[in-house]
Amino acid sequence: MSDETAAPDRTDFIREIIAKDLKSGKHASVVTRFPPEPNGYLHIGHTKSICLNFGVAQEFGGRCHLRFDDTNPTKEEQEYIEAIERDVRWLGFDWGEHLYHASDYFEQLYEWAMHLIETGKAYVDDLSADEIREHRGTLTEPGKNSPWRERPAEESRDLFARMRQGEFPDGTRVLRAKIDMASGNINMRDPVLYRILHATHPRTGDAWCVYPTYDFTHGQSDAIEGITHSLCTLEFEDHRPLYDWFLENLPVPARPRQIEFARLNISYTVLSKRRLLQLVRDGHVRGWDDPRMPTISGIRRRGYPPAAVRDFAVKHGVAKRDGVMEVAMLEHSVRTVLNLEAPRRFAVLRPLKVVIENYPEGQVEEVGAVNNPEDPGAGTRKVEFSRELYIEREDFMEDPPKKFFRLAPGREVRLRYAYFITCREVVKDERGEIVELRCTYDPATKGGDAPDGRRPKATLHWVSAAHALPAEVRLYEHLFTRPDPGAEGDFIDDLNPQSLEVLEGGLLEPALAAAPVGGVVQFERLGYFCKDPDSTPERPAFNRTCTLRDTWAKIQARGR
Ligand code: ATP
Ligand code: MG
Repeated sequence: MSDETAAPDRTDFIREIIAKDLKSGKHASVVTRFPPEPNGYLHIGHTKSICLNFGVAQEFGGRCHLRFDDTNPTKEEQEYIEAIERDVRWLGFDWGEHLYHASDYFEQLYEWAMHLIETGKAYVDDLSADEIREHRGTLTEPGKNSPWRERPAEESRDLFARMRQGEFPDGTRVLRAKIDMASGNINMRDPVLYRILHATHPRTGDAWCVYPTYDFTHGQSDAIEGITHSLCTLEFEDHRPLYDWFLENLPVPARPRQIEFARLNISYTVLSKRRLLQLVRDGHVRGWDDPRMPTISGIRRRGYPPAAVRDFAVKHGVAKRDGVMEVAMLEHSVRTVLNLEAPRRFAVLRPLKVVIENYPEGQVEEVGAVNNPEDPGAGTRKVEFSRELYIEREDFMEDPPKKFFRLAPGREVRLRYAYFITCREVVKDERGEIVELRCTYDPATKGGDAPDGRRPKATLHWVSAAHALPAEVRLYEHLFTRPDPGAEGDFIDDLNPQSLEVLEGGLLEPALAAAPVGGVVQFERLGYFCKDPDSTPERPAFNRTCTLRDTWAKIQARGR
């Protein structure tokens, strides 16, 4: 893994705790885990947890497990499991042989549940889900004991065993811990440990019809795997007393410590699997990997480099308070990486034809073009130049305002790497639309420099008409129109109707036929673009990764 993310001097309260525990000898080495529930695709928020868990393991010479928290068979699918593994690998992390599933521990968890029953710390409750809710009380009122709370352990044992055997329908009984219905922490009011669910599990099939809850599973799984520091997001802070209660009251092999940190939130998007699933299910996007989605699969298809995503996840720091990160900051990380790495190419997205009247018909010259000014090792390439070219429609104005320095009637501009041209005549169709420019070139300016030292105010990109490769180009804007979708009403109402624009008439320099799917290039003057898997050899499709303009850099500069 590259070292951009492994700055040795980076520290935060979690790293300080770990360093202390290693120094004091409390732990010989650090063991962390990333515990996704396979009920959706990973999103940018998860990258923070992934980079933190795998990052500290790397920095302190420990290890990080990938554990699927697969206790809810009704929402989980094999497709999600595969996507999660692919996405964590793509980010640059490797769990080696340490791939685990909470479902591997079902038998052990069942035995531990029996242990709690036998020690008088759990009971089978016959109340319905609604009744349990009514008994739970509120933040200001204590809960009420269930009438089944004091049933003999022997009876609970028998009932729990029969729950497992499949004797009872879904929802008729649960197993609950016997803690304190008057606790100020609602999580401690006799939480449910097991529910009956006659559902087929992706891994255990029909072996089980009782499934443990998240709370009863997580800490014990951590203990079984010898996790030393169980890092999770702040919403689990109120669950920590329960996490510790289970560890204290069960004969577990280790005592992991739960530490909470703030979630990563980003402006102009939503980071919740439930909402992302809704976008996919209801067809608001093409799928989980739609390049507008904040999923890892989406940003990969969009062309975000993993190093940029790691850089962003790490920059956010580890905090105790939730905040919202500017999406412009993520794009800044993306541009910083792509500026160094992406080959430069010519592409014209909205073409306007240029005919150079004094250039010999049928002649083709190959001009040398620099592949990446940031990387001399990237070398140069040849680009065909000929009498008929295309330039960007917006690079010409018939009646230019003062500050428009690009091509206009009678004006000279530079065609990058080629010649200076001057616009002599504007050709229009019967509707008055400009369809062609008649220009002349100055043969003395070959290569893009004039011997007399004159310098046009603008340098344009171009493609040769006879050589250009037609392409579909997709431009993306934020998926939502407001920085905080759903803050006032349904987040669906905040979807940006202009988040996708498909340009059918793009023309590319022919070298782009050979670009690999997933590869990112800079279309000069336009932005970074990634070749989409929809591409065919005759007609590539490109996704705009981001524009060249860096709003975050501007914001930072203003702050200085
Ligand atoms: P969501 O709320 O999007 O549905 P989740 O928390 O239910 O996500 P899990 O699969 O349970 O998703 O998450 C796996 C791990 O990733 C958990 O440890 C969780 O705390 C962490 N995580 C999820 N979302 C974020 C986020 N936005 N920022 C940081 N960590 C996150
Ligand atoms: Mg969750």
